[in-house]
Amino acid sequence: MDSLKVIVVGAGMGGLTAGIALKQAGYEVEIYDRVAELRPAGAGISLWSNGVKILNRLGLGKQIAAIGGQMNRMEYRTTTGELLNNIDLLPLAHDVGQRPYPVARTDLQHMLLKAFPDEVKLGYCCVAVEQDDEQVTAIFDNGHRATGDLLVAADGIRSVCRKYVLDEDVAPQYGGYVNWNGLVPVSEDLAPKDTWAIYVGEHKRVSMMPVAGDRFYFFFDMPMSPEEASQPGDIREDLTKFFAGWAEPVQALIQRLDPEKTNRVLIHDLGPLDRMVRGRVALLGDAAHATCPDLGQGGCQAVEDALVLTNYLMSTNISVADALKRYEAERVERTGAVVQKARKRAEQIHGKDPVVTQQWYEQLSQEKPSDVRNAIAKVILGGPLR
Ligand SMILES: Cc1cc2nc3c(=O)[nH]c(=O)nc-3n(C[C@H](O)[C@H](O)[C@H](O)COP(=O)(O)OP(=O)(O)OC[C@H]3O[C@@H](n4cnc5c(N)ncnc54)[C@H](O)[C@@H]3O)c2cc1C
Repeated sequence: MDSLKVIVVGAGMGGLTAGIALKQAGYEVEIYDRVAELRPAGAGISLWSNGVKILNRLGLGKQIAAIGGQMNRMEYRTTTGELLNNIDLLPLAHDVGQRPYPVARTDLQHMLLKAFPDEVKLGYCCVAVEQDDEQVTAIFDNGHRATGDLLVAADGIRSVCRKYVLDEDVAPQYGGYVNWNGLVPVSEDLAPKDTWAIYVGEHKRVSMMPVAGDRFYFFFDMPMSPEEASQPGDIREDLTKFFAGWAEPVQALIQRLDPEKTNRVLIHDLGPLDRMVRGRVALLGDAAHATCPDLGQGGCQAVEDALVLTNYLMSTNISVADALKRYEAERVERTGAVVQKARKRAEQIHGKDPVVTQQWYEQLSQEKPSDVRNAIAKVILGGPLR
């Protein structure tokens, strides 16, 4: 179909990537976000090869490579630093056709904003959606009404558009743990600068991965009841207490991080849903399938959504609603499987069943690096660009 006008609600990585892809397809695109100033939630993100390939396809290959960290290896260690496994990631890049890129979220957001040729409209909070046989309208709290041929609802895990699409409230579920994340300068006493270093034990996890600008994106995971999780303490004090006795690099990281710039997040996911579309409205990204970050795939799925949606609009000509139904049929299956796999992985890592987690610790030291790579490759190759 040509000559469509698309309204995008939400300028996160999903909404922006959709805006770029739809604009490149020749459509008129307006992106709206409720915030007055766009600031990414979180410090870093690992963009696995399925997400990177889509950015390549959108002509952003050089830009993503420039902000991506060189993550050549993956090392698992015990709480006290003994090496459990050491996995060369270069064969993975070879197998799937593209290396993954850990990136700082501000770098990613700048890159996407620069690639979207128009201004994102800020300070517009979508409160309602209306549609008829001809068009769809997003209604904002400031009274503005934006009308187009279709509406892409990329308004995140607490999406207001989701209720309109599903005609019911589906609440996110707590993933059982709290995550602290931030950036620190690269330093060899923390981890080798080309390595994704992961410490596991006591159902907790500490991770550092390189991003551009000689920085590590770090995170700490700690299982907590919803009641404990809702009471944040002093960041350094909490981490010192929760990770007491862990290896020297973990202690150095706790001392070196900037508490003012460290995020504390209660992990939630959503679904899987069996619908993503109502007429001319399509959910995209976390609005449809927020995912526990334990596979590093939530944002990659939003990027996949953007390409698949654009492809159906470009390649079919029955109607907008028909193209969106095809998008839904393809994406419900893929994203549902990723949401479930990531939740299972979150439970395995964070001790939902302590026996399963103990088995995983034991398995880590015996697992062949090629098995770990193959498991990652399988998720990557389930995406739209193989
Ligand atoms: C700790 C953590 C680590 C993660 N790590 C990874 C990783 O390594 N790899 C990976 O691929 N994914 C990761 N993810 C998942 C990833 O962050 C998300 O999947 C991704 O950010 C979703 O993008 P989105 O655009 O769908 O939603 P969001 O980024 O949430 O953007 C939604 C936008 O909509 C706007 N908005 C909301 N409501 C309205 C409204 N009513 N009107 C107008 N605008 C509105 C918001 O202001 C926001 O800008 C991680 C998530 C977490 C929490």
